[in-house]
Amino acid sequence: MVELKTAAEIEQMRAAGRAVAAALTAVKKEAAVGVSLRELDEVARDVLRSAGAVSLFEGYQPGFATSPFSGVICTSVNDAVLHGLPSDVRLADGDLLNVDCGASIEGWCADSATSFVVGTPRAEDLELIATTEKALAAGIAAAVPGARLGDVGAAIGAVGRAAGVGTNLDFGGHGIGRRMHEDPHVPNGGQPGRGLKLRPGHVIAIEPWFWRGPGTVYVIDEDGWTLRSADHTRGAHAEHTVALTDHGPEILTAR
Ligand code: MG
Ligand code: MG
Repeated sequence: MVELKTAAEIEQMRAAGRAVAAALTAVKKEAAVGVSLRELDEVARDVLRSAGAVSLFEGYQPGFATSPFSGVICTSVNDAVLHGLPSDVRLADGDLLNVDCGASIEGWCADSATSFVVGTPRAEDLELIATTEKALAAGIAAAVPGARLGDVGAAIGAVGRAAGVGTNLDFGGHGIGRRMHEDPHVPNGGQPGRGLKLRPGHVIAIEPWFWRGPGTVYVIDEDGWTLRSADHTRGAHAEHTVALTDHGPEILTAR
């Protein structure tokens, strides 16, 4: 069932959104060559704690996972793109890092992700990140009351196709509210004019993720979580929690 949130509920989600945004900003600031993924998890943990926010990731165990997640952020490096379990691996020059964070305040959730390069960037990594951010912006712009859910996916998919990046539709965006993952599923592809009609009060996480390609097949690490491209091409991920209001889409996790 797809729930509509009241203005008061969206106001509570703004608080969670700010905490998640602050955690991502702090992680990006601290991420540097030689810093470990676990140290970045600690940085996010401190920010969430001081904001009075509870991690949505720690202890989370969906059907596909063999163990509960042990971090408050996902840290996915290079050919890993989603669900990277924070470890003692240290960042190296030129690493492409995807960081995802979800947290709740008084039970209301927010979820956001960003990708960036540590140290000296490769041009193709910056292009991939730009494509992912462009797709996120296009998806958000399409998320207006009166539009259809398919318009959001179509907008994301069009950006990916134009850039020739690898797209896998197994994971995508989602409704969000009292729970991190609510209906509807928000796929990173779709047909314009199809699917759920969007209304004020819908709150969705929109989250394109792409690989440089051409592969679209993934493998999971032995940690049971870290999702990696089978052909070892690098990936990027961008996500915002977006509330649909009478005035259009509002990004609750803006940094
Ligand atoms: Mg996320
Ligand atoms: Mg999400």
